[in-house]
This record gives sequence, structure tokens and C-alpha cells, in this order.
Amino acid sequence: MKGYVHSVQSLSTVDGPGVRAVVFLSGCPLRCVYCHNPDTWNRQDGNEREAAEVFSQLKRFAAYFGKNGGVTVSGGEPLAQAAFVRELFSLCHENGIATCLDTAGSVLDRETDGLLSVTDLCLLDLKFPDEETYRRYTGGSLRQTMRFLDKTRDHGVPVITRHVIVPGLTDTTDYIDAMQALLAPYANIRQNDLLPFRRLCADKYRRMGIPFPLEATPDCPESTIRTLRGYWQDSKKRVSGS
Ligand code: SF4
Repeated sequence: MKGYVHSVQSLSTVDGPGVRAVVFLSGCPLRCVYCHNPDTWNRQDGNEREAAEVFSQLKRFAAYFGKNGGVTVSGGEPLAQAAFVRELFSLCHENGIATCLDTAGSVLDRETDGLLSVTDLCLLDLKFPDEETYRRYTGGSLRQTMRFLDKTRDHGVPVITRHVIVPGLTDTTDYIDAMQALLAPYANIRQNDLLPFRRLCADKYRRMGIPFPLEATPDCPESTIRTLRGYWQDSKKRVSGS
């Protein structure tokens, strides 16, 4: 089956555990104000490729994956092409390669369960902890993302949540408190990553001739990330009583 592929990165160490080959798909229904990849928004901008052909490209890198690495599919929104990703992940499993889905959980359809049945790990970008803010800054629905998170739990897929820390938007302990309350019922969440907002993508927006909504927002300082990571860990300890 064919999918719309933006690009393939041969070896990455930031898109899941270990060394990974990453497939970036084209097409995303959201418009997050801090999106780093506006060039992946439109499906038609990608190259139409067969899953088997993409897999044979990825397989060439398998010697580098080691014990923890494998293949990650990112976007855009990979759930918008779930049948294609399922075929790709099935080929990975048939060849002993671990699979990781990097998603915002923004599309659910009849293919979602099949895809999760061949997914070893999910990186879930959880953007804002309430429906109103989520809608305002992404154009999508938090309810949809939480329904996807429910499905990962039903399928027993481990999840690493990811949260972009944006100065003036998500760089507060209130944000961390609200996220922790939202995520508390999910025993399949293994880790929570806080990622600093970076303005690197501003040039991309200029080149594409579209306004960057966070043009006036500075980079998130490392000190803020350290403080909020510490706060997250301390709060977890308080909740677990250890
Ligand atoms: S979900 Fe990801 S690709 Fe889509 S707009 Fe948001 S940040 Fe960009």
C-alpha cells in the first residue's frame, strides 16, 4: 500500500530509544503554534511510496539499531495514514525490528487498533492539558488525544509523553500539575519528556511565506527545563509517597 512520505532520516538518537531510522510522513490535521515542521502539513507535498519499498530502504540501516533502536514513524501525523504505517511496522516485526510511533494522537479511525497491534512504543506529544487551550493553540481536540491514549492502554503499548515547554504558554508549575493530574490514571506511561521550545523553525516559515505565530517568543532557557523536570520528579515522589 502507498503512503505519502516527506523524508527518511537514516540514523537518529532523538526519536525514541537507541539509534533509529525515522520516516516522516506528510499530512497533519493540526496547526500547532510551535510546529517545527510546517513543510509536513500537506499530504500532497509528500512523495507517494509503497510501504515495502520504504521498508527496503530502512532495512539497510538495521545493523546500527543495536538492542534498543529500530524504526520510528513520525510526521506530520502518522495516524492519518495508519494502514500504511501498519504495513510498514508489520514488515519491521517480520524482520525482528522494533517499532515506534511518534504522534499527537489527533486521528482515530478503524485502522488505529490494527496499527497499535504492531507498535512497540508510542511517543505521544501532549500539548495542552485542557480542551479550550488545546483547541486555541493547535486547532485540534484534547479529547481525541485522550481517546488515543486510552487505546494505547487497552493495547498495552508503553508510552513516553512529550511536552514542548514554550515561554509564556507552558513554562509553569501549574502546567506540570495539570498534566500530571491528566496522566495519573495511565499505568502504561513510562516516561515524561519536557522539550524546550526553539525558534529554529522561524526561517522555515519565512521561506514558506506563512506567518510564524510565535515570532515574538524567545527560546526556552535550559534552566527552565531543569527546574520543571525537577518539579515533575518531586511531584511524582510526593504522589507516590516515596
Ligand atoms: S501535530 Fe506535529 S506536525 Fe502537526 S502541526 Fe502539530 S507539531 Fe506540527
